[in-house]
Amino acid sequence: MIYKKCSRCQLNYVTADRELCDICLREMRGEKDDFVDSLCDICPFCEKYPLVDGEEMCRHCRKKRLKAHSCDN
Ligand SMILES: [Zn+2]
Ligand SMILES: [Zn+2]
Repeated sequence: MIYKKCSRCQLNYVTADRELCDICLREMRGEKDDFVDSLCDICPFCEKYPLVDGEEMCRHCRKKRLKAHSCDN
């Protein structure tokens, strides 16, 4: 089987009968995700950032919450 580089990202190899790698195909279909390329839950608080390893909120929201808790002087 002949392999060539993906014509879009020039990173991944695809078989000669294809133009784009799986990642580019997915992006072309509109499943864009700047943060993750694997299946991931989205933070329920901001509904913007992905959750890592079963976290309940993303690091942005966690930082925000920590800040809110630390200003009780
Ligand atoms: Zn590609
Ligand atoms: Zn969040």
